[in-house]
Amino acid sequence: MKRLAAFLLMLVLLTGCAPKQVSTTVFAMDTVMKLSVYGDEAVLDEAEALIHQLEAQVSVTREGSELYSLNHTGSGTVTGHAKELLDRALALCSRTDGALDISIYPVVRSWGFTTGEYRVPDEEALASLLSHVDYKKIDFDAGSGAVSLSPDMEIDLGSVTKGYLSSCLIALFRENGITSALVNLGGNVQALGTKPDGSLWQVAVQDPKNDSYLGVLSIADQAVITSGGYERYFEEDGKTYWHIIDPATGAPAQSGLISVTIVGTDGTTCDALSTALFVMGLENAADFWTASDDFEAIFVTEDNTVYITQGLQDSFTLSEDHSKMELQVITRD
Ligand code: ADP
Ligand code: MG
Repeated sequence: MKRLAAFLLMLVLLTGCAPKQVSTTVFAMDTVMKLSVYGDEAVLDEAEALIHQLEAQVSVTREGSELYSLNHTGSGTVTGHAKELLDRALALCSRTDGALDISIYPVVRSWGFTTGEYRVPDEEALASLLSHVDYKKIDFDAGSGAVSLSPDMEIDLGSVTKGYLSSCLIALFRENGITSALVNLGGNVQALGTKPDGSLWQVAVQDPKNDSYLGVLSIADQAVITSGGYERYFEEDGKTYWHIIDPATGAPAQSGLISVTIVGTDGTTCDALSTALFVMGLENAADFWTASDDFEAIFVTEDNTVYITQGLQDSFTLSEDHSKMELQVITRD
């Protein structure tokens, strides 16, 4: 009897101490999303519902979404997560002084990045589209969620949605008592806690020039979000055009950077800054980092140098086949 009781107690302790890993893959927002949680299967259903709900609200191509009707009528109301996301996005447009501008959408479309029918737009047409780009002209009441756009303006939250979503998923897991989880939304990663054994998560950072890994980041409780010229681009007359647009010119950002990875605790911030700092270029991005205290970054330049901010010195390592690359540390002094 005693032995049986001891055995049962052991079993309870073992299963109690080490929740099993459950995972799922969801395809949404044009992205393969992998969710991996140490805990109960039921939370994955809730997570999946959250993903589809956010997509249904903020998709710019889905008729009937809050953003779709806003873009097509010039005014509307955003609710719940869409309201929170728009509020956060506008604050980040302002924080980056317009390097991030959610009203760049008509320009992105004119280059064909929304459909895959790529083309270099006609200069006059581009100038005309660009004259309507200015996030400051978005009239948004964060209380009621009422939004109105100036004429010919359209907005898209694609540059921040996945980071916002990963933070929401992590919050959902936490509310459900989970202490260890990892989400990977098309290469944008966010971790809850450490691995169950207490060790750090190892997150690979993609080499922007090919399919291999540039290096590995060891993290806990953080998001790792990358914007790269390699993600979506086309070539014409020997020139490469990618999907990150400089709102100052209306053309793909030619800043000398080919990828920017942001590491921080808030997914929305990381996603916004990965796009914005790509636009800014290394020097301005480094100054921006110096003046901030909520993220670290990895920059890869066209000439193949890797720059990391000083907070990543102990957590980032170049992969073996990249160990000969030049690695520079950006410091605050
Ligand atoms: P991805 O969505 O590929 O992970 P990003 O987070 O960098 O990459 O977002 C890029 C998307 O954001 C582009 O596809 C485009 O729709 C939009 N975009 C491009 N340039 C800007 C910009 N300067 N500000 C806001 N959104 C942008
Ligand atoms: Mg982004």
